[in-house]
Amino acid sequence: MSKVSEPETTPIQGRFGGPDGPALQDILRCVHCGLCLNHCPTYRELGLETESPRGRLYLMRALSQGRIPVSQSVVRHLDLCLQCRNCEAVCPSGVRYGQLMEESRAQILRDGRRAPASWLASRFVLRLFFSNPQRLRHLMATLRLYQRSGFQGLLRRSRHLSVLPGPWRNLEQLLPPISAHPFTARGVVGSPADGPPRFRVALLSGCMMPYIYDRVHEATVRVLVRHGCEVVVPSEQVCCGALHLHSGDRQEAKRLARRNIDVFLAENVDAIITNVAGCGAATKEYGELLKDDPRYAERATRFSALVKDVTEFLADLPLSDGLSPLHQVVTYQDPCHLLHVQGVKSQPRALLQAIPGLELVEMSHPDQCCGSGGLYNIIHPRMADRLLRHKMRDVAATGAHVIATANVGCALQLEAGLRRYGLAGRVAHVVELLDESYRNAAPAD
Ligand code: SF4
Ligand code: SF4
Repeated sequence: MSKVSEPETTPIQGRFGGPDGPALQDILRCVHCGLCLNHCPTYRELGLETESPRGRLYLMRALSQGRIPVSQSVVRHLDLCLQCRNCEAVCPSGVRYGQLMEESRAQILRDGRRAPASWLASRFVLRLFFSNPQRLRHLMATLRLYQRSGFQGLLRRSRHLSVLPGPWRNLEQLLPPISAHPFTARGVVGSPADGPPRFRVALLSGCMMPYIYDRVHEATVRVLVRHGCEVVVPSEQVCCGALHLHSGDRQEAKRLARRNIDVFLAENVDAIITNVAGCGAATKEYGELLKDDPRYAERATRFSALVKDVTEFLADLPLSDGLSPLHQVVTYQDPCHLLHVQGVKSQPRALLQAIPGLELVEMSHPDQCCGSGGLYNIIHPRMADRLLRHKMRDVAATGAHVIATANVGCALQLEAGLRRYGLAGRVAHVVELLDESYRNAAPAD
């Protein structure tokens, strides 16, 4: 007798509305108007209702009401969402799509039986390394050895990489050079030399940034100090939890949030600065994440109110004198989590336009996702590649030599795009370009 496989539609009885589950009344705010559809990258690519915000909300609603079981096909539709939140930004009914998606994923992950392997693996890897700064440091040291020993080159030239499971292969190919001198969280790292500071700010250094874009942190500190800030980088801070949230691990994201709240509020600062759009979006929503926690709700709201993207913070100040010409043609890619979640659009552009000699050329569709999506380009490389192809076509049409952005994931994805499509140029954070302009003007020591 042949083995009968378990039907794919086994329900998780009564589980989809558990603690931290999406509230039905929030899902019902969707009035099915469809205004979000053409803003959704997966809908634009596939033209399917089930790959649209409206379709996914409909699935969440049916799951919440127990009308459909958690099946593999339902989970696949939720999994293909980039969580770019473009739909949320344009929704006239104020549907909080991002939160609903995170809560839906948490419900599916909680049971585990229908969660995709990639979610389970993400939860394991994120908890093992990203939640633990010491283990992450060891992992980065090992990866640097792998890159510097020549083993990476050897492996890439051989055909052995193809035996790795898909996501690991994608991760290896996206792996940026690990810095020899990672940025270290170490208390006060800079202060104005010419008088008392006007602001005391804390830098959220993040989990991966210190190892792969340490130069962006260094530039951020220099520019903040130039604008009268004393900059502190609390050494006890931990990962912001954004990737955990996207993977449905709300429990761990809450634990990390509580730790960061304790650490940063103890610093008594005027602002908490981030240069990563994903971290900014997650930390600005700590208040929402911990709203039912009687011990942390008020403190989480206070923490979130202090968070500022570095471009947002600087654009509110009179720019310090001393910008020198930077003769570069630059195009700006809006990170989804900066534009759609934080509403920061004009500030990075204003900073770029303040640099003498810099020519800012807008690409077509700068607000459309590049396909990065946190771990999305590792887990869904085909969809990510389709989006990247559109993005690089728009970039190439500008004739820019520099793609400016403000998020680590976008930077990695755009750098991969330059390599893949053989385009000359580089990717830079907005604050790096400001720093370059200031440093060009600085007198030689
Ligand atoms: S725009 Fe908002 S209300 Fe309209 S279909 Fe999309 S999610 Fe629903
Ligand atoms: S978050 Fe992005 S990918 Fe997901 S449904 Fe909304 S617009 Fe589409």
